[in-house]
Amino acid sequence: ITPRPSPLHAFRDAVRTSPGHPALAYFDGRLTYREVDELSDGIAGHLAERGFRPGDRLAIMLQNTPHFVLALLGAWKAGGTVVPVNPMYKSAELGHILGDAEVSALVCSRHAWEDYVRGTAAASPVRIALTADARDLQTRDDERVLRDEPIPVPGDTEDLLDAARAGARPPSVPPPGTDDIALISYTSGTSGTPKGAINTHGNISYNADRQHLLHELPAGSTLFALAPLFHITGMVCQLCACLAGAGTLALAYRFETGVVLDAFAEHRPAYTVGPSTAFMALMAHPQATRDHFSSFRIISSGGAPLPPALVERFQTTLGPYLHNGYGLTECTAPCASVPPGVRAPVDPVSGTLAVGVPSADTVVRIVDEAGEDVPFGEQGEIAVRGPMVVPGYWRRPEATEAALPDGELRTGDIGFMDEGGWLYVVDRKKDMINASGFKVWPREVEDVLYTHPAVREAAVVGKPDAYRGETVKAYVSLRSGAGATPDELSAYCAERLAAYKYPREVEILPELPKTASGKILRRELRG
Ligand code: ATP
Repeated sequence: ITPRPSPLHAFRDAVRTSPGHPALAYFDGRLTYREVDELSDGIAGHLAERGFRPGDRLAIMLQNTPHFVLALLGAWKAGGTVVPVNPMYKSAELGHILGDAEVSALVCSRHAWEDYVRGTAAASPVRIALTADARDLQTRDDERVLRDEPIPVPGDTEDLLDAARAGARPPSVPPPGTDDIALISYTSGTSGTPKGAINTHGNISYNADRQHLLHELPAGSTLFALAPLFHITGMVCQLCACLAGAGTLALAYRFETGVVLDAFAEHRPAYTVGPSTAFMALMAHPQATRDHFSSFRIISSGGAPLPPALVERFQTTLGPYLHNGYGLTECTAPCASVPPGVRAPVDPVSGTLAVGVPSADTVVRIVDEAGEDVPFGEQGEIAVRGPMVVPGYWRRPEATEAALPDGELRTGDIGFMDEGGWLYVVDRKKDMINASGFKVWPREVEDVLYTHPAVREAAVVGKPDAYRGETVKAYVSLRSGAGATPDELSAYCAERLAAYKYPREVEILPELPKTASGKILRRELRG
C-alpha cells in the first residue's frame, strides 16, 4: 500500500469526502467531520497565539473523550508533537514525562488540574494549560457532552472548548511529513521506567491505513474505542484507522463493562480491538449476550497474550472469534496479525496460539544472541524491520542503539515461526523463570490454567527459592460462582505439565493487578 504521509492527511481526506458524517459518537453526542475540523482549527489557532510552535510538545492526559481527539488534531495542525499521558498517572510519573519530553502545553481534565496537575506543571516547562470537562462519567444520564457553559476554574488555565470556539485561525504551517514526530509514546512501564518511543507520522499512517484495508470495513463504519486512546493500540488501530476510513469512532470515557455493553447496543460497531483482559471482563458480565456482539464484522485482541481457551470460550458464549495481533509501542501497534476470516493455528507442542502473520512490507526474524537467524520452529528473540518501526527513543541514544541496531527492532520477546509463516510469541525474555536450571515460560503455564473452568485470570511468576533457584508460583482470580482451591489448581497443572513447570504454589486473589491499558502486571506480583 502507499499510505498517506500522515494521519492528518487521512483526516483532511475524510473532511472533504464526508463532512456531514459523524466522526465521533460519545453517549448521546455526535460531532461531524466538519465540526471536528472547525474545533480543532480553533485549538491550533489558540495554541499558536499562545506561542506554541512547530515541533513543540503538547501532552494530552485524558480518558476516551471527544476532547482527546480535538486536542490531538489541533496540536498536529499547529505542527506539534503529542505526548499521550495515562490520566491515572500521579505527580511523580507525570512530572517525569513533562520534564523528559520538555512539554510546553498540556490538556487535562478540570478535576485532575485542580487536584495535582497544576502543582506538577508549575515545576515543569509547561506554559500553556487547557482543561476539559471530563468528569468521571459512569452513566449516560449524567453525561453532557461539549457543555455550552463551562464552569470557570480558578487559576491560569482555559477551557479547551472555549479555546476551540474562540475562532482563532490555525497557523499556516506545512502539513506533517512522513518523518516528522507525531507522538512521543511513553511505554506503559510493565518493565521499568517509561522511555519515550518516537512514533513518526509515517509510522502511524502506515499502520492505520493498513488496518483499515485489512479489515475490509465499508467506508463510514463505526469503530468502538475499547482500548484507551493514550495507548498506542487505541491511538492507531482505533482512532487513526477510523479516520483512514472516514468512519465514526464511538467513545465511552473508559473501560467499564456495563457502559461498554450499552455502547455496543447503541452504536452497533463493526470493529473493536482491546487487550485479552477486556474480553475476559466482558464475558464475566452477567448481562452480556450474543446480541451485544452481533454487529461486529471483526474483533481483534492485541497487546497482551491471548490464551487459546479464552478464544474458544468467548466464541461459544458470545459469538465472535477473537483475532490475535502482536505489537509493541515501538512498532506503532501491530506488526503481525490474523487476517479476517482466518483462524490462527495452535502450536501442537506448546499449545500456544499464533499471533498472526507479519504485516506487508515487514520482515520478522527470529534471532539468537548474535542476531543470526535461527531455523524454523526454534525459539529466539523476535526482531522486526518495517515501515511501522520507530526510529528510536526520545533523547536516549544508548537505549536506541540497544533496541534498534541498524534500525531493526529487538523486541525483547521470545518467539518462533512455523514453516507456514505464522509467528508465535512464547513470552518476554525477561520473564523467563529458571527452575532448577530448567527454562519455564509463564505463558505456557497460564495457558493451561485458563483451560480450567473456574479460572478467570492467571499470572505466573518466578519466586526466589533456596533449593531450586526459582520456583513457579501462580496467581489466579476465579469466575464468579466458580470454586477451586489452590491445591486443586496446582494438581490440575501437574497433570498437564512437566514436573519442573507446574506451579507448586497457587494464590487466589479477587483480581489481578493490571496496567491502565489492561495488561496483567507480573512485575507487581513478583514483588
Ligand atoms: P514496557 O515496554 O514498559 O514493558 P509494555 O511492554 O507493556 O511496557 P507495550 O509496547 O504496550 O508496552 O507492550 C508490548 C508487549 O506486549 C510486547 O513486547 C509483548 O510482550 C506483549 N504482546 C503484545 N501483543 C501480544 C500478543 N498478541 N501475544 C503475546 N504478547 C503480546
